[in-house]
Amino acid sequence: MTDTTTPVPLTFASPVDQVFPTLTTEQIARVAMHGQVRHVQRGEVLIEVGEQTPRFFVVTAGHIAIVRPSGVTEDLVAVLRPGQFTGEVTMLSGRRGFVRLRAGEPGEVIEVEREHVLALVQTDGELSEILLRAFILRRVEMIAHGFGDVVLVGSSHSAGTLRIQAFLTRNGHPYSTIDLDRDAGVQDLLDRFQVTVDDVPVVICRGEVVLRNPTNGQIADCLGFNEAIDHTQVRDLVIVGAGPAGLSAAVYSASEGLDVLVLETNSPGGQAGSSSKIENYLGFPTGISGQDLAARAYTQAQKFGAQLIIAKSATQLVCDRKPYAIAIDNGPRVPARAVIIATGAEYRRLSLENLAQFEGVGVYYGATFVEAQLCGGEEVIVVGGGNSAGQAAVFLARTARRVHILIRSGGLAASMSRYLIQRIEETPGIVLRPHTIITALEGGDHLERVRWRDNQTGTSETHAIRHIFAMTGAVPNTRWLEGCVALDAQGFIKTGPDLSPEELAAARWPLARAPHLLETSLPGVFAVGDVRGGNIKRVASAVGEGSIAVAFVHQVLHE
Ligand SMILES: Cc1cc2nc3c(=O)[nH]c(=O)nc-3n(C[C@H](O)[C@H](O)[C@H](O)COP(=O)(O)OP(=O)(O)OC[C@H]3O[C@@H](n4cnc5c(N)ncnc54)[C@H](O)[C@@H]3O)c2cc1C
Repeated sequence: MTDTTTPVPLTFASPVDQVFPTLTTEQIARVAMHGQVRHVQRGEVLIEVGEQTPRFFVVTAGHIAIVRPSGVTEDLVAVLRPGQFTGEVTMLSGRRGFVRLRAGEPGEVIEVEREHVLALVQTDGELSEILLRAFILRRVEMIAHGFGDVVLVGSSHSAGTLRIQAFLTRNGHPYSTIDLDRDAGVQDLLDRFQVTVDDVPVVICRGEVVLRNPTNGQIADCLGFNEAIDHTQVRDLVIVGAGPAGLSAAVYSASEGLDVLVLETNSPGGQAGSSSKIENYLGFPTGISGQDLAARAYTQAQKFGAQLIIAKSATQLVCDRKPYAIAIDNGPRVPARAVIIATGAEYRRLSLENLAQFEGVGVYYGATFVEAQLCGGEEVIVVGGGNSAGQAAVFLARTARRVHILIRSGGLAASMSRYLIQRIEETPGIVLRPHTIITALEGGDHLERVRWRDNQTGTSETHAIRHIFAMTGAVPNTRWLEGCVALDAQGFIKTGPDLSPEELAAARWPLARAPHLLETSLPGVFAVGDVRGGNIKRVASAVGEGSIAVAFVHQVLHE
């Protein structure tokens, strides 16, 4: 360790023996079969900050310091002793690391290349559990300590800041924030990087690159989210969309040996990722947040070797030749023998003239902790009578002063699960307003007032309410398919037995067999989850369809 290192390691919320477990002699021997012994000198750097496709080390003699550079000094994160090992979630994703590993004294390590670590976690159940738990807990600790390679400078009242926070959080990427409204010393920092007020939110990426109000794609590029992924090779399967349906298909296909690539416009988790608590998904009796479920599924898919391209959209399916190809952001085309479309659906937007002005600054399409923090102690409106509206209302009622549920119809019975209706009835802070629609939004930089009309009485009222959660049904993400597959009248994809002989004839279905269950009018192209016509819009059905489609992908690949 250098003299400049602060000698006190961090404290951790999780048990230290789980964050930094010590392997037994037998376990070390099993790791050693995948790597090689390396002697290290005092002060030798084994991994540098920002290094990609990292290697994995188990200490067998001496010690390794995990440090975080801070200006000219280093902060000590932890010291690894014999039996302990390096690595965190980037080991699975192949992204850049956040820390420096330095040998503290002459010693010995077992060094394992990343692809051998991936093989190890797929084949050795005991080591897989120890390693994955440690990797995930280490990432959780990094997020909790706010350290990583990103600083977000913005205002909690700005839609752009909220978007970037959601993007980084849902990608499990650690970052720290500087809130312009609260942090007086921030001007110095802005001056140092020549940033004007108009440029915010600003992302300082890896301490070097300054991005002014960047898109999610620019952030992903700067952080190297997709650097380790080859776009050119022909994949067995390309999955478009990483919501529950796409992630499920990724887990099943990768675990069954297929070479799979997933494309995701935004962050893993899809709509479910924006749900504050999913209470009806099997196996989670006390509920699980969509973010947690998505993070677990994302790690699981990567553990089995699936690759995910983040913050890039499929913009075209090239369907007139085989292998098919999928254009990414109108640029490179990824060839694929089979395709699973899992692009889900988007919430309907309220038809109000100045809606766009308030999206993200008063009008939201998801109710997570991020939004709940913004409207604590205030009145809020939830628009919609479905289950997601009900969940949002119950969740927001914990922190908001009052929650108004606005529905066009006369009641919730036809559209919402009974358990949620009961919760709403039992929650004193929730007011149900049937036959009511929003007619106007008012405000400046932020929504300030909402006008609504009771369609039965015809009376209109204006209320000083600053937050609306729009939960009013969905529009399928199928525009990019441009006629490659048959759609129903609402634009959802038709599959299997729902395709009529006429539709198959019109699509020039070329095979003697009928389309498989979940197969579209294009052989080898499947549709699963919310994007599929007739799908039950639930996490469980999305996950189930993802797994079923993979069984048929195997059959198609052998045709
Ligand atoms: C707030 C909320 C709460 C909910 N609560 C529950 C619940 O408690 N229980 C339950 O069972 N269900 C719940 N649902 C419904 C459930 O989330 C959906 O049914 C489920 O997410 C559908 O999964 P999916 O993978 O089919 O689609 P989605 O979750 O919509 O995922 C589709 C993904 O595809 C991506 N995508 C779209 N177009 C492209 C493109 N061109 N290129 C690349 N990627 C693309 C999107 O960014 C998205 O990540 C809730 C929904 C919401 C919004």
